[in-house]
Amino acid sequence: KKLERLQKILAQAGIASRRKCEELIISGQVEVNGVPVTTLGAKADPEEDVITVGGKPIVSENKLYIMLNKPKGVITSASDPQGRKVVSDFLTGIKQRVYPIGRLDYDTEGLLLLTNDGEFANLLTHPKHHVPKTYWATVKGVPHGDKLDKLRKGIELEDGMTSPAEVEYQDIEPSDKESTIRITIYEGRNRQVRRMFDAIGHPVIRLKRVKFGELGLQNLKRGGWRPLKPHEVQELL
Ligand code: URA
Repeated sequence: KKLERLQKILAQAGIASRRKCEELIISGQVEVNGVPVTTLGAKADPEEDVITVGGKPIVSENKLYIMLNKPKGVITSASDPQGRKVVSDFLTGIKQRVYPIGRLDYDTEGLLLLTNDGEFANLLTHPKHHVPKTYWATVKGVPHGDKLDKLRKGIELEDGMTSPAEVEYQDIEPSDKESTIRITIYEGRNRQVRRMFDAIGHPVIRLKRVKFGELGLQNLKRGGWRPLKPHEVQELL
């Protein structure tokens, strides 16, 4: 076991300054493997022990968390037998193996998270963990309000009803030939957004994920990536 002082582990995970972390420990907000620890000399293993602050697991410093602005025409996978472009082709300079957290379709672009922290990935993709995901869906035509209401209420797909989504107009082409809808869903079924718009008769022409949890793409350029800041990783949990 690689034991370190708890306040050092917390500070290194970006929770707060070491001094503030000591206060968190004394105030009883820190637990190691489910047991509150309030003594300052206490040690833990940052790799093996589950350390929580206010009930939320902390995130280890030596793990990697990356945000990629995936272009369309790229496979969310580590390799492709047919030799098509894969997301790892864009992670220049990263030596560790990282894995996508969930996936985006070949033709979908936008925010994709990758990590080598399997536990973290499992937490975020578990169906019980309803991380909001926001997309800009450019669709054929202009769906009317009553159709968007169907998406808001939940719509029947072949694998069951969807849970309520948040839906609003983002942009409407003057010609009415296409429109862009901002949609937030709390599930992650296969091709879900495309199937939801198919179900109201407005097939998706372009799809871009702009937000995952509280994390936005902001000005990350297409094909670009950046590591997440510790507080950004923390806020996803
Ligand atoms: N919904 C889709 O239809 N495709 C994606 O890539 C993501 C969500």
